[in-house]
Amino acid sequence: MEAYLKQLNEAQLAPVLQKDGAMIVIAGAGSGKTRVLTYRIAYLMSQGVDPFNILALTFTNKAAREMKGRISKIVGASEGKNIWMGTFHSIFAKILRFEADKLGYPSNFTIYDTQDSQSVIRAVIKEMHLDKDVYKYKQVYSRISSYKNSLITVKAYFNNPELMEADAMAKMPRLGDIYKSYVEKCFKAGAMDFDDLLLKTNELLTRFPEVLAKYQNRFRYILVDEYQDTNHSQYLIVKALSDRFQNICVVGDDAQSIYAFRGANINNILNFQKDYDDVKTYRLEQNYRSTKNIVNAANSIIEKNKTRLDKVVWTENDDGNKIIVNRTMTDGDEGRFVASSIFENKMNHQMKDGDFAILYRTNAQSRAMEDALRKRDIPYRIYGGLSFYQRKEIKDVLSYLRLILNPKDEEALKRVINYPARGIGDTTMERLIVAANHYNRSIFEVMKNIDRIDLKINSGTKNKLRDFVTMIESFQVLNKSYDVFQITEHVTKKTGLFQELKKDGTPEGIARIENIEELLNGMRDFVEEQKEIVDATGSLAEFMEDVALATDADNDKGDSDRVALMTVHLAKGLEFPYVYIVGMEEDLFPSGMSMNTRSELEEERRLFYVAITRAEKQAYLTYTQSRYRWGKLIDAEPSRFIQEIDDSYLEYLTPITENRYKPLLDVDIFDDVDHSKLRLKKPVAGSPPKGPTEAQLRKLRKLRPATSNTDKNFSASDANLAMGTMVEHVRFGKGKIVKIEGAGADTKVEIDFENGGLKKLLLRFAKLKVL
Ligand code: ATP
Ligand code: MG
Repeated sequence: MEAYLKQLNEAQLAPVLQKDGAMIVIAGAGSGKTRVLTYRIAYLMSQGVDPFNILALTFTNKAAREMKGRISKIVGASEGKNIWMGTFHSIFAKILRFEADKLGYPSNFTIYDTQDSQSVIRAVIKEMHLDKDVYKYKQVYSRISSYKNSLITVKAYFNNPELMEADAMAKMPRLGDIYKSYVEKCFKAGAMDFDDLLLKTNELLTRFPEVLAKYQNRFRYILVDEYQDTNHSQYLIVKALSDRFQNICVVGDDAQSIYAFRGANINNILNFQKDYDDVKTYRLEQNYRSTKNIVNAANSIIEKNKTRLDKVVWTENDDGNKIIVNRTMTDGDEGRFVASSIFENKMNHQMKDGDFAILYRTNAQSRAMEDALRKRDIPYRIYGGLSFYQRKEIKDVLSYLRLILNPKDEEALKRVINYPARGIGDTTMERLIVAANHYNRSIFEVMKNIDRIDLKINSGTKNKLRDFVTMIESFQVLNKSYDVFQITEHVTKKTGLFQELKKDGTPEGIARIENIEELLNGMRDFVEEQKEIVDATGSLAEFMEDVALATDADNDKGDSDRVALMTVHLAKGLEFPYVYIVGMEEDLFPSGMSMNTRSELEEERRLFYVAITRAEKQAYLTYTQSRYRWGKLIDAEPSRFIQEIDDSYLEYLTPITENRYKPLLDVDIFDDVDHSKLRLKKPVAGSPPKGPTEAQLRKLRKLRPATSNTDKNFSASDANLAMGTMVEHVRFGKGKIVKIEGAGADTKVEIDFENGGLKKLLLRFAKLKVL
């Protein structure tokens, strides 16, 4: 048996070794489902299956990259790259590009992100003179999105009186008309939205049997992670593609189905047996991720759900600590508790920032956490907020790039036609839009033919429009021979974007330029990476494909040693040694909007199960007595989910809110010092944050008890430390300093210990002896 297969237990081995046929692995959190998929792919390849014939669908692109990395380690790097592995959206976007002409789209179609889609919908609502307080664009967008995911096209919608009636009841009788106009606008702009990527794939596979046959033939082995969260549209794609060979392996956990609100259908997992001829069902029971306490607590929660498959989860891991429950007065206190606790755990257990996650039910809760972490200078990263690629300056650059590939892209055009300002005003734009609608052409085409159309636009403005067209066309010519880095560098200069930002000398302006530079750096890396892939060239088109579907979790380029902040939904599939689940209050978690029916409440409970099963060593549950919500201070009640956990797995901290937090380390004296106030000079954006000056440090030290013996080593220069200095640590022994970071109280040293490898320590706690 191949050595890597020894890293699986017997139950995991069975689905890995079953080469052919349909199979489903149903198992609880942390039992190795994702590991089974990974090893199964490696095994298939070792059995001679061509990687080009394997399709693996994951929940995030990041998960796909990690899986590829692991597989490459087992089977060799070059082969691993050729597997079709990624999210539904990224894989099928690729396929749609090959086949776009069949559906009447250009192969370089734009992918509209949520912002773009919502902006189109807003424009439609305005054009139709509808009341925007009744037709709220976000609501309209999500309704249209759910239709698309149920494969209800515009035509199907108008053939379905029930749907029309339901929308009329929701006071939106014109929803169908908005839907129609939205779809037409996207089509005219050569754009697909996220949902189209699935909807159009389904259309492609049903309308063109020869295309279906081609992909059935290509994807002889199909694997799907997180199968419980596939929606109807995704389900049909998988079903169609696997129909011929029926070599399909799906893994999932009904207890972790958390996307019903977005159309995920738990029945996909329950009905899998009926969908294929001869289905083998596998179960895994042993959890490798978490302590006994966490596993048992999680089991005790999910038992309360009536609708569930019977499953056993146990672990051989240590008992571990009980789950800590803490109550605070306000959300500010909650943030401070979490930040202090992270700080202590880091120090007491030599953990890295990246070992911690803070999970919440709603994005709005992140602010209190951020404030507290910032005060403590704990680096963090928020997932799922505005992603890098959605920042204004980045989107401006990307809009120019989108126009190069697809000049019909109206959202991109509207964004940059007059940015940087070039004297093309709103009135001109409105006239262009009217003309475009009239001739049923794109705005860009109207601009190209501006001399042939009778438009009330003066000749000066016409020249400006012509110049814009010429500029974009010149980019298109260059793009034929440039890679993405070269073309983008050229675009940022030629459009005047860079100059525009440079004029703005504010810290924000500087930060924007830095972001654009960051974008360019990323592109340079991308070009290098692409060179290793067959047929790839590092072109703009390749890059845009990646970017359009990047989720926020995808762009943490190696810089992952930060506390992770995210919603519970986003945490699915991930694991962290320490997990803080905050806002454990009624109406928040469970969400007040999801308590109307048993099934909604059960979904919230599954969400809580997902949250708690992310923790490896220690979980915390925190709640507050009062919280600002919708601008009002309201009394909060502890979540029923806390009470549902068997008490023997919980440890309640003293529920005294004032001074409840007994500092364990003398450093907590700093607790109430607002470090930011100590910074006299305004920090320049982008430069590393400077610690306190020597004078400020002296002041700070006065606050510390004289007994502290860490004072001597308070800063690197005080302690006579430099790169290369040999030191001795009480626990880790002798080592050499290889890096010094930060200043003052936050000085960190990285030491290469003779026996323990590299460790990063906070200097003031490290108690180092210089040798
Ligand atoms: P989730 O339901 O949360 O997605 P999962 O079932 O996909 O969890 P994995 O993420 O595959 O579980 O595995 C959980 C952890 O246990 C991972 O760190 C994995 O490397 C480890 N693990 C899984 N199987 C084994 C094994 N046989 N031996 C050692 N470690 C294992
Ligand atoms: Mg998993």
